[in-house]
Amino acid sequence: MKLSAPKPKVPGLLKGLGVTLKTMLTPAVTRQYPHVKPDLAPRTRGVIALMEENCTVCMLCARECPDWCIYIESHKERVPPATEGGRERTRNQLDRFAIDFALCMYCGICIEVCPFDALFWSPEFEYSTYTIGELIHEKERLREWMDTVPPPPPLEEGAEQPPELGAALERANKERQAALAAQRQATEQAARGGPAGPARGAVREDEEIEVEAEVDQDVYQALLAEGKSERVARARAKAAYVRKEKARIRAERAAAGGGA
Ligand code: SF4
Ligand code: SF4
Repeated sequence: MKLSAPKPKVPGLLKGLGVTLKTMLTPAVTRQYPHVKPDLAPRTRGVIALMEENCTVCMLCARECPDWCIYIESHKERVPPATEGGRERTRNQLDRFAIDFALCMYCGICIEVCPFDALFWSPEFEYSTYTIGELIHEKERLREWMDTVPPPPPLEEGAEQPPELGAALERANKERQAALAAQRQATEQAARGGPAGPARGAVREDEEIEVEAEVDQDVYQALLAEGKSERVARARAKAAYVRKEKARIRAERAAAGGGA
């Protein structure tokens, strides 16, 4: 039997240096987070936001959550009859709504099952903390995330508008007409020298405003001074920036509408 000639041996040190050299010349694929922000899709599942006004305390989300990490507390309260001579009704009033993001696995079931559009995905993801307890977001915090939820995409051409959206738009339209009428009346009254009517604001309040989230430096520094972690401070400062910008744009629009 003929044996093949043994391969020449390369010293281990040279092999190692070869790997190092190759790695040095290959461009890096890692991202230097947090110095370099990842370029995420606009509808990334970052955190869950709660539109408290829409929640009817039906408990579906809490029941369907596979991790049992949604905590809801409520009480019943009486509300006057909707029509004259009708009966008093009872309504669930939300006291506590919290999500424990230390347990949440971001499956999105709660958002899917909510029949009243009270839960949404926000792309914000910078809310990690040094203490696990801070990952329980109460309803005030969940409501703040609503400011960072992107608006729904427009309907496809020829698509039928959902009936509830039509009803909501009609109601919003009526409210806008009423606000405009009140504003016109106030302007006429002011021109005649009478007492000033209702403020010019509130007009176009319901219009969709898109704001690109930036960090509000004042809020950021204040939260850091309070001892919040850098990530929590940045996320909250972004939410504060969006709220402030929306309020500013609404005020400008109201002023422009009043001046017209
Ligand atoms: S995303 Fe899933 S795990 Fe997280 S709260 Fe919702 S249902 Fe529960
Ligand atoms: S399913 Fe929606 S409406 Fe029902 S309790 Fe949960 S968030 Fe509220």
